[in-house]
Amino acid sequence: MTAQLIDGNALSRQLRTQVAERVSALKAQGLTPGLAVILVGENPASQVYVRNKVKACEDTGMHSVLEKYEASMTESELLARVEALNNDPSIHGILVQLPLPAHMDAQKVIEAISPAKDVDGFHIASAGALMTGMAGFWPCTPYGCMKMLESIGYSLKGKHAVVIGRSNIVGKPMALMLLQQNATVTICHSATPDLKAMTLQADVIVAAVGKRNVLTADMVKPGAVVLDVGMNRDEAGKLCGDVDFDGVRQVASYITPVPGGVGPMTITMLMVNTLESAERALAA
Ligand code: NAP
Repeated sequence: MTAQLIDGNALSRQLRTQVAERVSALKAQGLTPGLAVILVGENPASQVYVRNKVKACEDTGMHSVLEKYEASMTESELLARVEALNNDPSIHGILVQLPLPAHMDAQKVIEAISPAKDVDGFHIASAGALMTGMAGFWPCTPYGCMKMLESIGYSLKGKHAVVIGRSNIVGKPMALMLLQQNATVTICHSATPDLKAMTLQADVIVAAVGKRNVLTADMVKPGAVVLDVGMNRDEAGKLCGDVDFDGVRQVASYITPVPGGVGPMTITMLMVNTLESAERALAA
């Protein structure tokens, strides 16, 4: 079997076209959705991420503000900026790009964002909403994975999903979203004694570790769906995921590539969350 690709670029284009249409509809009612992105310091990867997020806003017709600060900015200065954006009616989503410099408490900064504008879905109120099945913002990366499963018409009901990784931004929310769709979910992590014994039982595997070749063909049940969240570099410096793509695609039924898989979907879901925040503001 050679797996079919779930193309994150193609799906993103489709979803962003729909976002752009809804943005136009809001603009016709006098409201332009706005996203504020705060970058502190000079992290090169973060600079690329924020550029892509701002560009995605422009492409979908949203208003965006990029605030860049020196790494020497104090935590209280940053908290004051977040508070100002909380009170700015032209801004519907606030994103503080992580990681923050070591002298700042990232969780404290995230908690300062109004839950109504927490389009990254990292606020404890957003995490609680996801946990209890209430309305809130879902973290963009696992939300993008769910959209990828939806795009292939995959029903999770009665399926066994194995999530590798338990971070607050990917693994744990991913597991909750899969659970909400009636999958039976296993979460694996660095202390899981026999990862292969777990993944071999899975109908769906989400790899969110940050290590190359965490998932190889011998660990995958024939016909499983494999979503690769990892972002790593190979020896040649080329972007790659956590999954041994060439091997696993011979066994899986569907697989996401890296690059061009989950990565673009993450930014797309940020656009969706920002749009929905604006729609809620209009309805309020
Ligand atoms: P993280 O916070 O470092 O979490 C990694 C998780 O992997 C931890 O739960 C860790 O277990 C687990 N782990 C480590 N080694 C393992 C092993 N050998 N077997 C099983 N589990 C293992 O990372 P993250 O923020 O979740 O990100 C994960 C990856 O996704 C990274 O490559 C990141 O760059 C990528 N990412 C991509 C996107 C995107 O848009 N495509 C977005 C976010 C993240 P412990 O908890 O026991 O330490």
